[in-house]
This record gives sequence, structure tokens and C-alpha cells, in this order.
Amino acid sequence: MHDIVIVGAGPAGLTAAIYACRASKSVLVLEARSYGGQIVNTPSIENYPVEMNISGFDFAVRLYEQAKALGAEIVFEKAVGMEDNGRYKTVVTPKNRYDAKAVILATGSENRKLGLEGEDELIGRGLSYCATCDGNFYRKKTVAVVGGGNTALEDALYLSDLAAKVYLIHRRDAFRGEERTARRLREKENVEPVLDSVVTALNANRKLTSVCVLNKKTGETREIALDGLFVAVGRVPENVSFEKYIDLDEAGYAASGENCRTKTPGLFVAGDNRAKDVRQLVTATADGAVAATEAVKYISSLETED
Ligand code: NAP
Repeated sequence: MHDIVIVGAGPAGLTAAIYACRASKSVLVLEARSYGGQIVNTPSIENYPVEMNISGFDFAVRLYEQAKALGAEIVFEKAVGMEDNGRYKTVVTPKNRYDAKAVILATGSENRKLGLEGEDELIGRGLSYCATCDGNFYRKKTVAVVGGGNTALEDALYLSDLAAKVYLIHRRDAFRGEERTARRLREKENVEPVLDSVVTALNANRKLTSVCVLNKKTGETREIALDGLFVAVGRVPENVSFEKYIDLDEAGYAASGENCRTKTPGLFVAGDNRAKDVRQLVTATADGAVAATEAVKYISSLETED
């Protein structure tokens, strides 16, 4: 029996681990992929307090090492479900069952897809969801980024230093991402915004060769020849495996108060899978701190009952 099982080793989960360990709780963190979550794909973090400029990867490594040094046990298994046994919960993975007095879901989110024919088959053949992972393959080539949020803007900026040409395809004429980044992009001569436009087809000959892009205002479709397409159209929260125990909003985010509690006593949510207005690194780590503190309080209340 652990005191707290945390599902997800991204910024929210690892910060929760730090706070729980410092409260002398035994902590197990389960992670389905590699630690760090989405932030590892950010080339440069410039809006986290104190850090003027740190790569997402370096940030993740430091956070992971901090959680480990404080005593968190981190196991790389995917949590596929949970059972609520009243005074304790069981988190289930394909290999094991882990009992805990409290559980924190910091599962984050996964890439939203465009939903176009051939999308899955073209991953690694010209289509990617991670500019920092795959951008290097497109040195001096022609690429496009789809999306208008911070990820798309930052990806386009990053790629503009590698690729010969970067199209930035966005479905509206205003970006959702920060104006400061949009301004830096406008200064790049090799970045061409393709606004009010959606990708309607992926054309390939074993590898991606071009995309068809429909301008929603003019109704015209153009074909853009490409070596690479980077899809950055947001994320989908990973809450489905736990939906029996949490209320989800229509987009699938987990409802909780600002105290990160859910409708199930002893079950907390933290980070990008939680319903909230601002999804940033700093709000993910803040959630982790709140969820762990609340979980510690919950465990104390169980002990008081005994
Ligand atoms: P996001 O902010 O949700 O933006 C997704 C973008 O994709 C939006 O521009 C959206 O268009 C577009 N989109 C959504 N579905 C689409 C579809 N089916 N086809 C075409 N376009 C579609 O997602 P994100 O950029 O991944 O960012 C996620 C969160 O992380 C945000 O809160 C963001 O601020 C944060 N983040 C922060 C940083 C940073 O602070 N350095 C870096 C990266 C991400 P509309 O605008 O029309 O809805």
C-alpha cells in the first residue's frame, strides 16, 4: 500500500510527487511513456518564473531528478483503470495492481489529430506531431505547421531556423498563441502564414508530397508541395480510463474545484487533463502542489477517523 499513487510523470505529476514526498508520504508515480510530458517538446521555455530560457527537455530532467532525489518511486507502466475500494484505491496497469490511500490523476493529454485519410500511415513519413523531435530531418526543406496556438507558433519559429520554408496554416485569421511569438514569426522571411485555411487532404507517394488547403473565406483550394507537415492543433485530455470516478466536461476535461478534488473522495486531478482556463507549465506545477497537499490532508482525515 502506497500513500499516494500519481498517474503521470509530467510537470503536474512530478510536482505532486515532490510535495507529497516532502510531506513524508510514500509515493509511486506511474508513467505510460517517458517522463516530462508535453513540455519536453518545447524548445525553449521563457515564461516560467526565474527561468529566462530553459529547454523543455532540461526542465523535465531536472524535475524528474528532484522527485527521485526526494524519494518518489517512478515506474514506467500505463495505468489503464482504477478501482475505488472506499478507504483505498487500486490503480491497474497491464502488469500490476497498485493500492493507495489517495490517487492523483496527472495524465495530461495526447495529440489531437487532423482526422484526415492516411494521417496515421504518414507518421514518420513526412508527418509529425513534434517539431523539436523531428525538425532536424527537414533542414533546408519545405515544411508546414498546422495550428494557431502557442505550440504551432513556437514550432514554426523553431522550424524557421532549420527549414528553407515554413508555411503556417491556421483555420482563422487571428492566432490563439502569444502575440510576442506571433510578432517574432512575422519578422521571419521564410515563414508564410496561410490563414483562414484548413488542410483537406494529405497527398503521398509512400511519403508525404503535398497537402491540399482550402481557404474557407474564398472557397479556393490550393496544393502546397511539402517535405514535412507538423500538426499542432491542440491536445485531447487522457481521462477516459477513469471516467467512472470523475465528471468530464464535453471536451473530456476532468471537473474539479480549485482544490483539485473530484467527486470521488481521495481522487484528485492535476495538470492539463483538468478543466480550467489557463493551461501552462506554471499552472500544471501549481496543480501538482495543490493536489498533493489536498491528498495529504485527505490521508490525515482517514487516519483521524481510525
Ligand atoms: P491550443 O492552444 O488548444 O491551440 C490549438 C490550435 O489548433 C488553435 O489555434 C485551434 O484553432 C487549432 N485547431 C484545433 N483543432 C483544429 C483542427 N481540427 N483543425 C485545424 N486547426 C485546429 O493548443 P496548443 O497550442 O497545443 O497549446 C495547448 C496549451 O499549452 C495552451 O494553453 C498553450 O498556451 C499552452 N502552451 C504554452 C506554451 C508556452 O507558454 N511556452 C507552449 C506551448 C503550449 P482555433 O484557434 O481556431 O481554436
